[in-house]
Amino acid sequence: MKLSEEEKQRRLRSFIRAARQAGIKLTHQRLEIFREIAGDGRHPDVESIYKRVKKRIPPLSIDTVYRTFSVLEREKVLAKVSVFCNRARFDSNMEPHHHFVCRRCGAVRDFFSHELDRFHVPEEVKPWGDVDTVYVELRGTCAECAGKASAEKTEDRRK
Ligand SMILES: [Zn+2]
Ligand SMILES: [Zn+2]
Repeated sequence: MKLSEEEKQRRLRSFIRAARQAGIKLTHQRLEIFREIAGDGRHPDVESIYKRVKKRIPPLSIDTVYRTFSVLEREKVLAKVSVFCNRARFDSNMEPHHHFVCRRCGAVRDFFSHELDRFHVPEEVKPWGDVDTVYVELRGTCAECAGKASAEKTEDRRK
């Protein structure tokens, strides 16, 4: 998902605000890492953020990026997206929202649903503890992958 310049700036500002509130020191490296995550609507993983920021800041180490991500996640400035491919992906969209995940290419797309936000927690769950977030993950095949798959099938039939 391509983000508008306005949305990038909005995310960056809310990052900075949340980081200040959490008492996270805003070093130059962390700000650049922030900027990269805030500008990425595709739920990037640590490695791809590292590669992109390293182009601008060559002395950057991957440990710094991992540490920054884990601090941001702990302070709820950033959310970890649970995707089943083994890499952890991160989300800079802190508005309540849900995901569509493609099983083939791992693309993660955001969607909003007032209906899901009002989800009624089943009685049986209540004794287990307090629920503070409802998050729905839909899994399937994205339109792009589905297009590729059907193109491949037609290709096979031609052979
Ligand atoms: Zn896909
Ligand atoms: Zn998201």
